[in-house]
Amino acid sequence: MSARPDFAETLAHARAQRIEAMLARRLIAAGRERPGRIRIDGRELIDFGSNDYLGLAQHPRLLASLHRASQAGARASHLLGGHQPVHEALESALADWLGYPRALLFSTGYMAATGTLQALLGRHDLCVQDRLNHACLLDGARLAGARLERYQHADATSAADVLAAHPQRRALVVTDSVFSMDGDVAPLAELAAVARRERAWLIVDEAHGLGVLGPEGRGACAAAGLSAEDVPVWMGTLGKALGCFGAVIAGSDLVIDTLIDRARSFVYTTAMPPALAEAALEAVALARAADAERTHLVALIARLRSGAAALGLELLPSATPIQPLLLGSPERALTWAEALRAAACYCPAVRPPTVPAGSARLRISLSAAHSLDDVDRLLEALETQLATGH
Ligand SMILES: *Cc1c(COP(=O)(O)O)cnc(C)c1O
Repeated sequence: MSARPDFAETLAHARAQRIEAMLARRLIAAGRERPGRIRIDGRELIDFGSNDYLGLAQHPRLLASLHRASQAGARASHLLGGHQPVHEALESALADWLGYPRALLFSTGYMAATGTLQALLGRHDLCVQDRLNHACLLDGARLAGARLERYQHADATSAADVLAAHPQRRALVVTDSVFSMDGDVAPLAELAAVARRERAWLIVDEAHGLGVLGPEGRGACAAAGLSAEDVPVWMGTLGKALGCFGAVIAGSDLVIDTLIDRARSFVYTTAMPPALAEAALEAVALARAADAERTHLVALIARLRSGAAALGLELLPSATPIQPLLLGSPERALTWAEALRAAACYCPAVRPPTVPAGSARLRISLSAAHSLDDVDRLLEALETQLATGH
């Protein structure tokens, strides 16, 4: 018999340890029949767990475009015949909205990030990232084999120090615009100034900014007054505020042509289903015009924050629809999530390694599909749970 460790045995041991530490994960099959609501175990709850910030995921125009579809799949990769006129139209609509010369579709944000960083960076390059960046950005730098250095969260001076320590290397500065588990916004204007001074490029992941912030919902970069020159590589996703699926990189001809040649997660995968591209095209038009929804979101955020403050509950400092309640241990986060669920509010607990150790939290996210009444019901549930002292 070989002395080789047994796979099943070691996996079972590791899983048991995660269960013991309250860090094991479990899938639940959740129905989402109506905007702003989620069905779990047969009960309908208010859904504070989605990224459907504008309430577009069930918009009749998106659903109609899916029903009109004449093909389920694109049949081939973009480069081998899968790229269709609707993809072209969607890329043009996105480039026009975002104020960039070109845009390129990816199947998911995760693939856009990993493919873009892998395509742009080589082994001798430096990739400077916020320490709370989304996992796909960190994974992209690792995939590229670049030297990955992380700076203090939302600290442009710390980013500048890292760059200054490596003056000889080509460098990318990479940040989330709205941090996905914290809800705060990166100091984008400062980072752009640092990048310009250091001859580095700035890449911003607007997964949670697109549709939500800035003029016409163009995102946090636009809200900060940054242009395509300040942010040479701009990333957004279509699965959050746009209510669809997929992702986009916006940039110059040179950036986009480089990605078409080199981004492995673009080249070696099937093109986005055309029906989905049709739906996303509708979503772009709707999101651009969704000023009323954005205004309503601001009112919901204000209601939640003032209500929480009145209860003495401290939400993380965030002006976006992501409103986390820090609870510390995984056990406490799970207890609160369970109690809120019993009170018909779904707020998912987020635990390490998604967030740093000791900072497990409820990730409360608001949507234009919510009413002020929904927020009040959440506040009541929070008050009840607070009174238990747990
Ligand atoms: C969700 C998210 C992604 C991944 O996008 P998908 O389209 O869901 O793969 C990338 N970056 C950030 C910041 C995200 O929150």
